Amino acid sequence: MPRKIISKSRMRTQIQASVVSVCPKSIDDVIAILKEPRHYPGPVRAVGSNSGSTRNASTHGTLLDMTAMKSFSRISADTVRVGAGMQLRSLADRLARDGLELVGGYEYPERTVGGVISSGSLSADIPGDAGHLAASVIHLTLVTPRGREIEVGKDMPELLRAVRQGYGLFGVVCTVTLKIRPIRPYAIRNREFAFSELMRFIPDMSEVRAGVKIFLLPFRNRAFVELRFAGNGDQQSSLLPWKIRDWACNKAIPDFVHSVGRIVPISKLRDPLIDGFSAAAQRLVNKRLSVVGSNAMEQTGQFRKLRQATSVTYSSWLFPAARFAQVVYAYREFCLRHYKVTGFRCDLPGIVYRIGHDQSALLSPSHDQALFALNLRSTNMDGWDNFLLDFADLAARFDGIPLFNQTRGMLPRHAHDAYGQRLVRFRELRRQHDAENRCLNQFFAEYID
Ligand SMILES: Cc1cc2nc3c(=O)[nH]c(=O)nc-3n(C[C@H](O)[C@H](O)[C@H](O)COP(=O)(O)OP(=O)(O)OC[C@H]3O[C@@H](n4cnc5c(N)ncnc54)[C@H](O)[C@@H]3O)c2cc1C
Repeated sequence: MPRKIISKSRMRTQIQASVVSVCPKSIDDVIAILKEPRHYPGPVRAVGSNSGSTRNASTHGTLLDMTAMKSFSRISADTVRVGAGMQLRSLADRLARDGLELVGGYEYPERTVGGVISSGSLSADIPGDAGHLAASVIHLTLVTPRGREIEVGKDMPELLRAVRQGYGLFGVVCTVTLKIRPIRPYAIRNREFAFSELMRFIPDMSEVRAGVKIFLLPFRNRAFVELRFAGNGDQQSSLLPWKIRDWACNKAIPDFVHSVGRIVPISKLRDPLIDGFSAAAQRLVNKRLSVVGSNAMEQTGQFRKLRQATSVTYSSWLFPAARFAQVVYAYREFCLRHYKVTGFRCDLPGIVYRIGHDQSALLSPSHDQALFALNLRSTNMDGWDNFLLDFADLAARFDGIPLFNQTRGMLPRHAHDAYGQRLVRFRELRRQHDAENRCLNQFFAEYID
């Protein structure tokens, strides 16, 4: 419960336990906050939808809820400037009205532009699209840890690379200028494989000129592959099949799995039921609802919610394409063994995305090569943390790359091994730009500093 509400300015400010929460409405508000450590103690952390799965945004100082900063202006035919607090869905809606879309198929449209460009983003991008939304950023307005407003563009290339996927460690991003483009439909083709077949196809999938998304059901030994091929512009995207897909994958399956998990206490009955339903639903979606889609449709979907009645928890690791066939095998073995020993298993299919090579950010996980991301998901929390700690050991053996805001169970040494010299450079730059550690919280002090 809030202890006290201060009305010293137009900003809504609450002090909760030891945290000051504030919702700035303008760049001037953000400047005032960063300039006043007495009223707004550090660490100062900006958040959008605050949907990360680690403590990356947590603070005992000041939390800036950026969601009131959602201005929108069109700069040119292929660029748009938005407030950092604008949700992807609102932006996608605005763009779609003019036949435009973001470059890349970012899911979970409740996230904010500021949050997504300040971290890695996983999606089934078509080759040639950006690996992460941060790569589409050509300019941003930043309020530095000392409260100075600066424009960061191509004349400051190193700072721009550090702020993209920079987790708010260089200050607060207030506006973002992004590349956009006309809506480009894609055709979805589906395949179903056993794990052993999937392993054989991974090298082809590393090269295919399509976006790659795979649903993994290790206990059924099934993998449902979705390939997204860029269209020629003549294809019409069909809204109804897409909506049914959206509903089935993002509402019906998680809700069913969650309900069965609560109603049926005996795992020998419950788990095959969940697996059978998940496999049948994937087959229905993949075989009967092969559709033409677009990034615009993906981002305006209504059922893809970060917080819904059924809470889905997740954690992701990324792997070099050359090792991913082995990872797929080891992942299945690990799930079966872990279940046998502990009785815990993820009750939702894991999701794989191929992530494009992307050097636009110093901390881009796919900076050195294209990767496959494995997104583990569950509605069952009992045993989840231990599962992730054990999985982190496996991931590290296969050169896994963690994401600071999406990989629960990672250790500082995992980050150092994966990001190496780039992390060293990021740390040097961070110290230059924030010598007083105004934006550095405990989490990043452990993992980066
Ligand atoms: C159910 C579920 C599924 C998910 N699936 C996916 C997925 O498929 N793909 C994927 O990529 N992610 C996924 N995520 C992860 C999550 O959505 C991402 O971490 C996302 O990038 C966060 O967006 P956000 O607005 O919530 O940012 P936040 O979590 O609020 O912020 C992310 C980071 O950026 C910093 N930050 C935020 N705003 C600013 C700003 N204005 N200035 C400076 N720094 C800022 C924060 O301090 C934090 O370090 C999922 C999350 C959930 C809960």
